[in-house]
Amino acid sequence: MTASLVWFRQDLRLSDQAAVAAATHEGPWIGVYVLDDAAAGPWAIGGAQRWWLHHSLTALGEAIREKGGRLVLRRGDVVKELRAVAEAVGAKSIHAIHHYEPWWQAAEEALARHLDLRLYEGSRLAAPDGVLTGSHTRYRVFTPFWRALKEQMPPPTPHPAPSAFTAPHVAIDGDRLSDWDLLPTKPDWAKGFDIWTPGEVGGREALADFLPKIEDYDHDRNMPAIEGTSRLSPHLHFGEVSPAYVWHRAAKHGRAKAEPWLREVAWRDFAANVIDILPDYGRKNGRDAYDHFRWRTGAAPDRDFDAWTKGRTGYPIVDAGMRELWATGIMHNRVRMIAASFLIKHLLIDWRRGERWFWDTLVDADYGNNAVNWQWVAGTGIDSNPFGRIMAPLVQSRKFDAGDYIREWVPELREIEGDAIHNPHEAGCAPNDYPEPLIGHREARERALAAAKS
Ligand code: FAD
Repeated sequence: MTASLVWFRQDLRLSDQAAVAAATHEGPWIGVYVLDDAAAGPWAIGGAQRWWLHHSLTALGEAIREKGGRLVLRRGDVVKELRAVAEAVGAKSIHAIHHYEPWWQAAEEALARHLDLRLYEGSRLAAPDGVLTGSHTRYRVFTPFWRALKEQMPPPTPHPAPSAFTAPHVAIDGDRLSDWDLLPTKPDWAKGFDIWTPGEVGGREALADFLPKIEDYDHDRNMPAIEGTSRLSPHLHFGEVSPAYVWHRAAKHGRAKAEPWLREVAWRDFAANVIDILPDYGRKNGRDAYDHFRWRTGAAPDRDFDAWTKGRTGYPIVDAGMRELWATGIMHNRVRMIAASFLIKHLLIDWRRGERWFWDTLVDADYGNNAVNWQWVAGTGIDSNPFGRIMAPLVQSRKFDAGDYIREWVPELREIEGDAIHNPHEAGCAPNDYPEPLIGHREARERALAAAKS
């Protein structure tokens, strides 16, 4: 019996994994993961996600082996490597979950010229090209997209992992995961990443931990000091849990109670829709008018950018977020919005520089989600408020944090009590080692509005 291949990418799970299910049904198969640092260009997997990938592939490899199967690791040009493995195995067909990043779509096209590539849905709640307006066009705004998506819900019932696999007995060269050097060593900046358990089991546990809190999500999700969100984003990005599984588990709590959270999950679908219709969204403004925007460039903004990455802007809420990101690979969504807005509007630095930093430091870095959100905050996106809507970081800070979040991540401010923590320089209680604000809010606002006008 001929064997087939299962091509793993951002679908590192065995349950509700249609490619695994189809290959198992057909007969023996070998799983392949190819680390191709060239295919995605600037979106090659970033530093924080390399750490995640190492652990996720370890978990997947073990889970496949336990059921009698095999996972082969290769590094290099993804199409060449898959063809080479297929030849060594004598495989004619290759099963894979479809992905919407432009480099994955290009690889799928190239591979399909040589092998019988069978693609399945499974990375989103629904295939984005099936969520259409009344006139059969694609959506460019989230709210009507969500309404149309909901009409197609629930997604198909998730299927459990097959109980056993068979793998062909052929000699195939594979890499050792440790040789890929995905884990940081000198220095080991990932010590704070021990809050995570990458892999399918960890993903399911994260969901189980969150679901009892789903009713309070609508309120708690904006409070960075409260663990009110699911922290499922890296698991969803790497496909360790399927969106259909997540939907069905959440909906058990009642559609109305689950809806605010499921609506957020649907933003992933919307982002996939956007990059499917605008593949360059990670580098190209959704609104052309912004191509002429005069972002600050030169030594001074470079210094500001550096201060922003290090959490030394003098705005405690921004600094707390940027330090949380560096230490743990994640930043709370509300704080992401504040920190991104500060970079773009207060510092007038091109959103693409922020996108790059997030790409390298987030464990949940995702081409579509990152670009859609940066462009949303910048006002350059196809579905965003105009640039002139400028977030006031201090107002946001007071509204969403009683100070506990800042105290956790900016230790030099820990002793400051009450409201003064949000703006310690103005309150006259900033310690010597805490930087002055890079720019005052009023001045920044006027500068940003003038830049937008010109
Ligand atoms: P929950 O609140 O529990 O939401 C559940 C799931 O829904 C998330 O895991 C995520 O998969 C999805 N989701 C929630 N909000 C959004 C959103 N606004 N856009 C897209 N999907 C969403 N999210 C990423 O997954 N990857 C990114 O690279 C990314 N970059 C961002 C950049 C900026 C500037 C901003 C403002 C937001 C970004 N987000 C990104 C969206 C959001 O911040 C994270 O998805 C969320 O904080 C993850 O935490 P959670 O899993 O606890 O989310």
